[in-house]
Amino acid sequence: MSVILVLSTRRWCPLSPKLTPPDDGLEDSRILFAIDEVLHRQVERLSAVVNVSTISYDDNGQVGEDMRWETFGELHTVLKRLFPVIAQQVEVEKINKYGLLYYLPGTDRSLKPILLMAHQDVVPPMDPRQWTHPPFQAHFDGEWLWGRGASDCKSNLIGILSAIDALLAQAYTPRRSILLAFGFDEETGGTQGAAEISRHLERNMGNDSVAMVFDEGGMGVKTLGHIAYALPAVAEKGFVDIILTLETSGGHSSRPPKHTSIGIMSKIVEALEENPFSPVLDQTNPMRNVLQCEAVHSPSHVEPWLRKELASGGSAHELGEKMVNSRGDAIRWQIQTSQAVDIIHGGSKDNQLPSRVELTVNYRISTHDDVEELLNKVAQRVASVVHEFDIAVSGLGFDEEQTEGGVIRLASKDLLRPSPITPANSENEVWSIFSGTLRQVYESVDTLPGVETVVPVGSIATGNSDTAHYWKLTRNIYRFTPSREGSRLGIHDIDERIQMSDHVEAIRVYYDLIRNIQAYDGDVCDGECLDL
Ligand SMILES: [Zn+2]
Repeated sequence: MSVILVLSTRRWCPLSPKLTPPDDGLEDSRILFAIDEVLHRQVERLSAVVNVSTISYDDNGQVGEDMRWETFGELHTVLKRLFPVIAQQVEVEKINKYGLLYYLPGTDRSLKPILLMAHQDVVPPMDPRQWTHPPFQAHFDGEWLWGRGASDCKSNLIGILSAIDALLAQAYTPRRSILLAFGFDEETGGTQGAAEISRHLERNMGNDSVAMVFDEGGMGVKTLGHIAYALPAVAEKGFVDIILTLETSGGHSSRPPKHTSIGIMSKIVEALEENPFSPVLDQTNPMRNVLQCEAVHSPSHVEPWLRKELASGGSAHELGEKMVNSRGDAIRWQIQTSQAVDIIHGGSKDNQLPSRVELTVNYRISTHDDVEELLNKVAQRVASVVHEFDIAVSGLGFDEEQTEGGVIRLASKDLLRPSPITPANSENEVWSIFSGTLRQVYESVDTLPGVETVVPVGSIATGNSDTAHYWKLTRNIYRFTPSREGSRLGIHDIDERIQMSDHVEAIRVYYDLIRNIQAYDGDVCDGECLDL
């Protein structure tokens, strides 16, 4: 390898030192959570919450109007019973009735609090008869705990509360305040849960008032040879739906035009799908750091050309293309805007020409793509199809006069831009503490035999979590469900289950992170931080 290449890659993937918790008199997490009783107690706790079917439905109404939300009240009763010390000692505020906001004030009120998150809701079980064990009757088989929500996200919910419970049991008072925020409609966008909680926090504490947000997500801990990569998401792709409504004159089916409105819409679908977005691996995409880490730490497990290509400073488009050709969908959706034709409605009778067809196309926007350009590009493509049929275009930059051929109306819905990117480098002390804690925990577990080093590196999430509502509170947002690859199965599918050893390791992450962050002196308010 040339000297220049070595020099240019030397600063890649700086590893934070492994962070052993301070001498705070608390029990060592390796010992505290290693005993059998803990595993059994966690099975009981997790089972109890899985058994409450807190489903959030796509068509859920408002809290207070739709009775289906009431099951969350039952969950709160169960949580109180499972964690009596927390119920007694920790202030909890209910936001919009079912959102839970716990507050543990620290002794130094000039330090911005940390915020740990999880969501209380689960997705519907689909067909319960297809499950090996009933989805809302948790089953522990000695290794795995089965049930809807066992992993997503009740494991995180119970994991966080169990860590706090273990700290309180040792009469612990943090120096830096701790907030726990549990929304109840993450699976349907978080508008009634997390959005309300964040509004409450912003109103009372102001913007940039939190040192760190730690939520579910990321790609867990993946092993490549003797290296394990811990992959919290430090960014999320954006989101937008484009709704296309085509209106043409109807008529009788016995005298159809060459293409009905359904036929024309089909041509639009074809034109869109024939022109996907391009993969781009530019400097802003966190995946670049992930690949650099792999090139440095696992050279024999990755493409032989990877290091050289990353160092070459060549075109981001060519590199993106090359990565997708090599790894396919394993990397594609982290570096390419996705486009999915998801919903189509049109036509109602076999003797009537359809006069109105509606199409919904979903986009997950990559960090390198400009949202306005994307909307414009799609609108132009649609226009180029419908103009051939003398159909006018309205919306997304078009304002054409309606013609005899009809009109297609374009609109965007639920637009969310790509998230800000959390600085995940050694200059950011919060990242050093977070990543140093992950190293400390996962380098000490016996479930990763042969792993010598854990390399935490920030990645990007292709979907959105409740953190989308928390951007104003901090620049440090980590979406990371602490879990080893293959230890959580069936998420959003049938037979959801979690390996209980994985759940217990996750508690250690929460427990040790809370301790490690106490030594951090940064993220200070002017004077005292505002109170809840
Ligand atoms: Zn989730």
